[in-house]
Amino acid sequence: MTNNVKLIEVGPRDGLQNESSILPLEVKVKFIELLVDAGFRTIEPTSFVRAEKIPQMADSHALFQSILRHEEAIFPALVPNKKGFDNSLKAGAKWIAIFTATSNTFNKKNTNASIEESLKRFEEFVPDAISEGQTVRGYVSTVFGCPYEGESSTDELLRVCEKLFKLGVNEISLGDTVGVGHPYQVKEIISAVKKNFGLDKIAMHFHDTEGMALANIYTSYEEGVRAFDSSAAGLGGCPYAHGASGNVASDDVVNMFHKMGIDTGIDAEKLHIASKYILESIGKSSNSKYFNAKEGRK
Ligand code: MG
Repeated sequence: MTNNVKLIEVGPRDGLQNESSILPLEVKVKFIELLVDAGFRTIEPTSFVRAEKIPQMADSHALFQSILRHEEAIFPALVPNKKGFDNSLKAGAKWIAIFTATSNTFNKKNTNASIEESLKRFEEFVPDAISEGQTVRGYVSTVFGCPYEGESSTDELLRVCEKLFKLGVNEISLGDTVGVGHPYQVKEIISAVKKNFGLDKIAMHFHDTEGMALANIYTSYEEGVRAFDSSAAGLGGCPYAHGASGNVASDDVVNMFHKMGIDTGIDAEKLHIASKYILESIGKSSNSKYFNAKEGRK
């Protein structure tokens, strides 16, 4: 097992999706290019959803045309259904990401489908995606708790993971959608996942709502996970807890691992430039402790 970790940068999609002001295409492209320059090799750039549903993602086709020349990086685009998959193919996406949850109530509110219905939806296009040469990433939401149902079921998680792997999903990202997980829970859930599937194809997706994201990432690392989703500058709010911070900041994750002597492949200085660029573009300050400390030291 390698000591190094892989970071999956989700700021351009998961982060910017929460921004109400629509950014110009050039700004999104430049942000992604700064992230590639910082060393990220997996960046979630956008989603192929109906433009009226998420206006920020309406330019996904044009965005792909601008970033595909960066062949050193892979760009998994979020697709909710067959239509989204068709559009991702037209745009030249080689990676897509699909999403479901361990909570039926959450999944219905988020995707208008029960867990079973969402798995059925995937059967309508994931086999085609794979035969078209696309690689498929899977997200499972509410793994550590649900805003509507409370505690989540590990058995349900294992069942959903099994189905996704059977479908041919290449990596599953386990999401603490609300940001309520704690290290002992992380240990318990990862050990169940490890027993059933190993950890080679598992990534963790933590939110910092209660300030526990780094503790949860550290615990996951100690348990053997080597892939983590994070967002530059901590971009993205938490829609289930108003005013709370959302995705864990890439800046903080990189800083922690580098201080521990663990390589992430990321140039922290260049990541700082990318974070600063996007914060200035949206006119916001950062949730990242490290970003703010570094700004204060200047
Ligand atoms: Mg997120």
